[in-house]
Amino acid sequence: MTKEEEIQNLRNELRNHNYNYYVLDNAIISDYDFDIKLKALQDLEAKHPEFFDASSPTQRVGGEITKNFETTVHDQRMYSLDNSYSKEDLEDWEKRIKKLVDGDIQYTCELKYDGASISLTYENGSLVKAVTRGDGFQGDNVTANIKTIKSIPLKLKGNYPPKFDIRGEIVLPFDGFHKMNEARIAIGEEPYRNPRNTASGSLKLQDSAEVAKRPLECLLYNLTGTNLGVKTQFESLESAREWGFKVPEIAKLTNSISGVLEFISYWDVHRHNLPYETDGVVVKVNNLQQQEELGYTAKAPRWAMAYKFKAEQVSTTLNSITYQIGRTGAITPVANLKPVELAGTTVKRASLHNADQIEKLDIRVGDDVYVEKGGEIIPKILGVNLALRPLNSQPTQYISQCPECETVLVRQEGEAQHYCPNYNGCIPQIIARIQHYISRKAMDIDGLGGETVALLVNEGLITNYSDLYTLTKAQVLPLERMAEKSAANLIKGIEQSKNIPFERVLFALGIRYVGETVAKKLVKHYKNIDAIIKATEEDLITVDEIGARIAESVSAFFKLEDNIAVVNKLKSVGLQFELSAAQLSDQTDKLKGDVIVVSGVFHNVSRTELKKIIENNGGKVSSSISKKTTYIIAGDSMGPSKKEKAEKLGVKLISEDEFLNALNYEK
Ligand code: AMP
Ligand code: ZN
Repeated sequence: MTKEEEIQNLRNELRNHNYNYYVLDNAIISDYDFDIKLKALQDLEAKHPEFFDASSPTQRVGGEITKNFETTVHDQRMYSLDNSYSKEDLEDWEKRIKKLVDGDIQYTCELKYDGASISLTYENGSLVKAVTRGDGFQGDNVTANIKTIKSIPLKLKGNYPPKFDIRGEIVLPFDGFHKMNEARIAIGEEPYRNPRNTASGSLKLQDSAEVAKRPLECLLYNLTGTNLGVKTQFESLESAREWGFKVPEIAKLTNSISGVLEFISYWDVHRHNLPYETDGVVVKVNNLQQQEELGYTAKAPRWAMAYKFKAEQVSTTLNSITYQIGRTGAITPVANLKPVELAGTTVKRASLHNADQIEKLDIRVGDDVYVEKGGEIIPKILGVNLALRPLNSQPTQYISQCPECETVLVRQEGEAQHYCPNYNGCIPQIIARIQHYISRKAMDIDGLGGETVALLVNEGLITNYSDLYTLTKAQVLPLERMAEKSAANLIKGIEQSKNIPFERVLFALGIRYVGETVAKKLVKHYKNIDAIIKATEEDLITVDEIGARIAESVSAFFKLEDNIAVVNKLKSVGLQFELSAAQLSDQTDKLKGDVIVVSGVFHNVSRTELKKIIENNGGKVSSSISKKTTYIIAGDSMGPSKKEKAEKLGVKLISEDEFLNALNYEK
């Protein structure tokens, strides 16, 4: 056997194992043996780069970093679906389509998977491109990330057409989702709220190795292209399955709407046993010829209809109300419920938001309350079953003192939330603030988790985030679950945070209302911390997109001596408190006063980059064309209605090249 044959054989074998495991859910080799073979293949490929193949199973481990996802136009638009909610809606739909096509109509019923849609392009049996739905006309090219999803074949089997697109939904099954959350909670991070958002967020991660770690799956439901060798939707599902795609076997063919309704009522109950989220059923006219005759409305195919399941509701007893304290001192009341099964999970708690909400619902301990589960993990309380209210029930008295430090709570005018004003003395606030400081989007301190922060505070080793920088290994070693290595990592992670750029440091400080975007705006405007500290409320308001509420909060933060002391300490240990020279040199005033609309697809830079260039040069990006628009940077396939509007208002169009040349931007 030649080396090339040996490599090919190993690839085929591993491909088959992947297929058995991820598509058929039927592994015939242990994880351990799989890893050994994969490692062997990696070694062989490293020794023989001449046999490189982008579809090799070794390509699934990821590692490719995508800074900007390239905007890519779909060959065929990705439409939305019309929704129906009742038997009558479906019957009306049938009447409408029967007027438009001749002959009997058969329907395929499928589940509506709740995730992120994706369009995959295959050429000669290899995956060449994966694009998100985006606005339906164009999306982001996320191929590097998609390749890491093992249920998506990189190479097809059987008798496939030379070129086609296949569409599906990227989902995160509950099992994997819960495991990810357990791991997050263990390191003190906020759990992800729901599988759908986590799945779609995963597609846009920059590091594909991170995506590879997430247990994502892709469920396929639609083939597009010409000469696909199929005449019906049902056949296309079967063919896709034969080519190696994961297509749930649940789909069913029926001759009538009453058959559709049977499918719906069955799955309305049994969907709770599925490993992933579904929010309805999709009914499609089976015959592709008929589909073509029916065509599309402006937004959706006429030949398909989604049926949405009703949101789940149950009732249970409210056992108690407790109060949580956030990093800004904000108090959130939480309903502790008698555990109850709802949409496949056990619900024990629900947020009550604030005092007004409690008053509005007149919710009392001992009440029987209605709980609903929407798309979110944290369920909602809809109301109270007054008929079951105990006779001795007492109206809820909202707390007036902090449950942790007993300080009298304050509620500012116009605000829904109560606050504990004991900013520097209330332990849960201090802990939450430091946890925010070290979080990924802020200082991203490796080796330090939320639980350790709580320990450090409770042990009296730190009282604010600047104390982190004077911690020593000897101090942290005695802590629970600390060892030589983890202590060293902790200290190293803290040290490395000194390189985090100013805008993230400002965000990390945890000033109320100063999120990532506001922090960026402030940094861009003031360029260093001293200028921000000096700025008056009136001055802050003049900054683009900074309103009175934010201005007041920023100014109040820096009026406190304690905060200034903390900032000074952070400065003295060497944190970044001004824009770096590189960031400064990027910035000009060349587009000051200009309002620019960006439209279409670009070649030299991505749309996001283009927007950044505009902002760095002092211009403003706007999404809609108006009389105020200075000009439009028009890329390929700019929509006709936008063109028309520009013409009507006499707004100038310029090309990407003209724009970049004018700024002397190097492509
Ligand atoms: P909507 O976003 O509510 O308009 O619904 C349309 C979306 O449903 C499509 O973009 C798909 O991503 C998704 N979808 C989920 N399952 C299916 C399915 N079986 N057939 C078609 N679309 C589906
Ligand atoms: Zn307090």
